[in-house]
This record gives sequence, C-alpha cells and structure tokens, in this order.
Amino acid sequence: MSEIRLQKYLAHAGVASRRKAEEMIKQGRVAVNNVIIENMGATVTCNDVVTVDGKPVTTEEAKVYIMLNKPVGYVSTSKDQFGRPAVIDLVKDAGKRLYPVGRLDYDTSGLILLTNDGDFTYRLTHPKHEVNKVYEAVISGFPDKNEITRFETGLKIDDYQTSPAEFEVLNKKGINTLVRITIHEGKNRQVRKMCEAIGHKVLTLKRIQIGPIALENLPEGKWRHLSDNEVKILY
Ligand code: URA
Repeated sequence: MSEIRLQKYLAHAGVASRRKAEEMIKQGRVAVNNVIIENMGATVTCNDVVTVDGKPVTTEEAKVYIMLNKPVGYVSTSKDQFGRPAVIDLVKDAGKRLYPVGRLDYDTSGLILLTNDGDFTYRLTHPKHEVNKVYEAVISGFPDKNEITRFETGLKIDDYQTSPAEFEVLNKKGINTLVRITIHEGKNRQVRKMCEAIGHKVLTLKRIQIGPIALENLPEGKWRHLSDNEVKILY
C-alpha cells in the first residue's frame, strides 16, 4: 500500500490546498485513526481514517498519478483475453486501482502514465489536445530524404491521413537505423504503420516522452509518482 504525506492526502481529497492543509495539521485539527497529528512528515494510506475537526474525510478518492517504464511483453489494457501480463500488475503496490492513460502495444516499451483521474486521462488522450508523444525506434534499412519528408508531411495509413510529424535520424545501427519520432495522434499501431508506409519495418519501439514529461532514467518495470508540478503541467 503506497504511503502519501498527510497534507498531500488532504489536498488530493479536496479538503484544502496543500498549504492550508499544513495549517490545519499545525492547528491540531487533523487526526489519523483518532490520533491528532501535528507532525508535518506524517504519512497515511487509503486504509487510514483521516478526520478534520472530527469529521471523516470522505470526499473524493485521492487522485494518484504515476509513470511506469513498461517492458515489452505487457498489455496496457486492464484485462487481456489471452491472459498475458498487464501493466496494472506492475503498479499493484501503488495501492489504488489505476488505469493506463492511452495505450502502448504489447511489443512497445517505455513511458506510460496511469491514474484514477478520468479528467486527466481525457485531457491527455483526446485528439483535440494534441499532446506530443516522442518515440525512439530502430527501423530496418536507411530512410532517404524523400521518405522522411513523406513521414513528416503526413501520409495515409488504413485510409487515415496522418498529421504532420517529426522524424529525426539519430544513428546507424548496422543495417538498421535508430530514429526519433514525434506524433500527437494515437491511432492503433500508428508509428509502426507510418514507418511501414515509407518502406521501413519497426524492429523496436520505445516511448520516451509524453508532452513535457520524459522517462529519463526510470528503470524498466519500475514506476514513480508524478510530482504535483508534473501533474499540473500535463493538465
Ligand atoms: N505507435 C505504435 O505503433 N505502437 C505503440 O505502442 C505506440 C505508438
């Protein structure tokens, strides 16, 4: 069960801003399991009973936002008809029922966000918000200028016209090429299909950034909470 600082818990539950919640704690108005808490470092889990002025904090469920470095070999749906491992299995210790924000293919690795906040999910996945997603891919062969321009201008996949995108060659890898791709749409297997449309097969695919949030050095299979600031800038 994940622990959260008391003032953050109160703020997430909508009782008060974090600063106001700290004042409430200092004033001795907040109790956890019937014990008044005046220590600013106190933490709680969702199993604790928190009261303010004797009244239980029963408003909304505290919102949780995490980022996970998804390994290949996990589905990002909550349940899989073939019984394959799911990303939610990797975040069970976050202590809440969380849902992936958007999708990553079974064979794609990298950054995926999970939350119990439906508004946040909507904000990040609705096409009108055009949130950039950055991927690193190893593709077969070496793309030429003409192919790169087609990719960047937009092309047809399954009768869908893709929006302008970014395509940057990073390195040659033997007979293949490491590229960085930025798109803001989220069609099924879009990066793979776009690369195939210009004649290059995606051999590996990893998402490294969503909007301004980068995976950086979070180890594969591990998760961490987003900071309040990260949540704020994604909203
Ligand atoms: N594009 C793909 O092809 N696969 C993903 O998992 C994400 C984007």
